[in-house]
Amino acid sequence: MQCIVNRRAQFLASHRYWLPELSESENWEKFGPFSKFPGQGHNYVLFISMAGELDEYGMVLNLSDVKHVIKKEATGQLDFAYLNDLWPEFQETLPTTENIAKVIWQRLAPHLPLVRVQLFEHPQLWADYRGEGKKATLTISTHFSAAHRLAPNLSPEQYGKCTRTHGHNYHLEVTVEGEMDSRTGMIVDVKALNQVVEDYVISKLDHSCLNEDIPDFAEVVPTTENIARYISNLLELPIQGLGVKLANVKLYESHQLWIDYPGNGSETFFSVATHFSAAHRLAHPHLSLEKNKEIYGKCARVNGHGHNYQLEVTVKGEIDSRTGMAIDLLGLNQIINDYVVEPFDHSFLNKDVPFFGEAVPTAENIALYITNVLRSPIQELGAELYKIKLVESPNNACEIYALQSDSSVGDTAKDQQLLAAV
Ligand SMILES: [Zn+2]
Ligand SMILES: [Zn+2]
Repeated sequence: MQCIVNRRAQFLASHRYWLPELSESENWEKFGPFSKFPGQGHNYVLFISMAGELDEYGMVLNLSDVKHVIKKEATGQLDFAYLNDLWPEFQETLPTTENIAKVIWQRLAPHLPLVRVQLFEHPQLWADYRGEGKKATLTISTHFSAAHRLAPNLSPEQYGKCTRTHGHNYHLEVTVEGEMDSRTGMIVDVKALNQVVEDYVISKLDHSCLNEDIPDFAEVVPTTENIARYISNLLELPIQGLGVKLANVKLYESHQLWIDYPGNGSETFFSVATHFSAAHRLAHPHLSLEKNKEIYGKCARVNGHGHNYQLEVTVKGEIDSRTGMAIDLLGLNQIINDYVVEPFDHSFLNKDVPFFGEAVPTAENIALYITNVLRSPIQELGAELYKIKLVESPNNACEIYALQSDSSVGDTAKDQQLLAAV
């Protein structure tokens, strides 16, 4: 089976949008204040995603080896550097966020089984690169505050307090896809993109009551699913006008609930987040302590250690035209609680969860187990389990894409077929 592991790294660096073949005024016209001497700096945050089969030790790769490769080939060189002068790639193409992500991919690809390089210039702007030539995505994030209610066409018994008018701080992420210009390194003018999102979405929805102020929601229930679809419809053409394609609208109602809407009809991805606190010890039951320490390092210490695990469960579903929902949220939360949170929270996984008496409770194996136990109950709710993401620490996370085809519960790794793509 395939599992995706994510490793976080960071570096501080400066850069300047300046093409020496242009005059000062031409550079200013093209790049504005970004062309200023001597440049600007950022705290870049990098997430490297790698895919592979789980080995007998419950790992895709040894993460301490991965950490050293990322440092040696990328962040160790990038840290405290003036990027324009650092690598020849940045003399050919300016070090924009998307191009830095691409060049990091090229430098790491000979050493690691990459599936994605994600680079944050700051929390409101990041690029994703997946090894597809000049193609990359760029995401901007923003927010708006709005009121809504899910009445009148939903029953108060089933939807509880949501039938009363209340409000949220919605966090919105807009992802566009395009080709990098081979000289400027840009797929889109970020300022223009921000302006489009402001003009077409934020100015309309911020500090509004969606049911009363937005005519589209007079009939359509303003659930997060339907708001995401509405925003996608508002943005599709103006973003095309910028020369790129709208690839995804991600809308958070809260840190615990969000929607991804890639823009295809009523199909949507619905995610909830929760957490559990658990102890574990990484040691293969059939190996000596010395061998286990060699493989797992400090994680093999005999009395174990623990984490606050953040669990994200993503299901794929169709937006129901009556309820505006892709899945019964209460039902989903109940399943996650019954199958995962209740048995895992405040437990010692190796001792308290029978599966981990034999299987080493690495984040990868825990995510695999969760995928297996949630798949069928979610299917019974009328949706499809799409992805499990388990964040073990700020630096480490793993993801499993679950295909519907293999639906037996509690199967071992070899019975699972998983999707490598992100
Ligand atoms: Zn609400
Ligand atoms: Zn641990």
